[in-house]
Amino acid sequence: MTQVFDEEIYDIVERGLLGKGLTEAETLKLYQVPETSKEAAYIRWAGQELSLRAADGKAEIHAQIGLNSTICPKNCKFCSFASCNSSRKGKFELDKKDVLEYAKIYMEDGANLMLLLTTASYSFEKLVDMVGSVREAIGDDMPLLVNTDDMTLERTTALRAAGANGAYHAVRMREGVDTEIPVETRTETFANLAAAGMSLSTCVEPVGPEHTPEEITEATFRCIGTHPVSAGVGKRVAVPGTQLYELGMRTDVSNANMVAIYRLASGIEPRLNCSANTVMTAASGANLAWAEVGTNPRDTVERTEHGGRGASFAQQRKMFLASGWEIVDGPSQGWML
Ligand code: SF4
Repeated sequence: MTQVFDEEIYDIVERGLLGKGLTEAETLKLYQVPETSKEAAYIRWAGQELSLRAADGKAEIHAQIGLNSTICPKNCKFCSFASCNSSRKGKFELDKKDVLEYAKIYMEDGANLMLLLTTASYSFEKLVDMVGSVREAIGDDMPLLVNTDDMTLERTTALRAAGANGAYHAVRMREGVDTEIPVETRTETFANLAAAGMSLSTCVEPVGPEHTPEEITEATFRCIGTHPVSAGVGKRVAVPGTQLYELGMRTDVSNANMVAIYRLASGIEPRLNCSANTVMTAASGANLAWAEVGTNPRDTVERTEHGGRGASFAQQRKMFLASGWEIVDGPSQGWML
């Protein structure tokens, strides 16, 4: 028997395609759609359609350099750096020479943005110094971000002065329950970034099979409310040795649905919708992918590009081309400098 297409879902998607965003109630309806249904396929098509319009058909590849994997006291139950997990032990830091070499290679590759990632246990003074050195190496036009501990205004101001344009920062799924960080600490950092003139990249993440459509909707609208330069949805990667490992992972199809729904919920802005981690997500509205080197919270090796899960710039480029995207030439078009 032919299954009738759900007209309510059709109408919500059509409103989403206008690019003005959706209400929380409409977004919840879309997150409740079964991932293998014909309605889900329509949602994925619409997410891609709106993202192509938002970014003139041009995707971006942002480059992450993980500076350390020193055990982190914040105890996020999904993260390989957390002291509560058994994925890693001890202290490991890249020296500046290696970091600058990675930055040079990424510039030659054609990265659209550079990001320095640290655990919350990394010395702040060292991070400021590293930002200054990387800024010198990559020139003034390339956006430079940090992904680090929560920050006071004094700290965001110091990073801005050293040459950082913004930060990746997120309220994690079940923050304060699956992590030891209160939500308020995260939102204070958002405010301190804005007060220092730094832009925000954020995401609904890490989404596991246990998270409900209601929780994902709430997180989506929290992200939209921060007025980020880039955002989207990322599924949790189950890392062996972490406390949430046994809960497993969502499928790539589910991730693609969520990426498309985020785009429709957010509207035509911002230009950048993440995370393109498969051809399927890149064909469902995700136009921002991350190339990764150095340490990585979703990995257990010291350098993620050496036998780990970190994707190279060339792999991400291939993924976008296979999904019908061109790639921005030069510094990110999605970042306000
Ligand atoms: S996610 Fe960040 S804050 Fe949490 S344990 Fe990992 S490095 Fe620390």
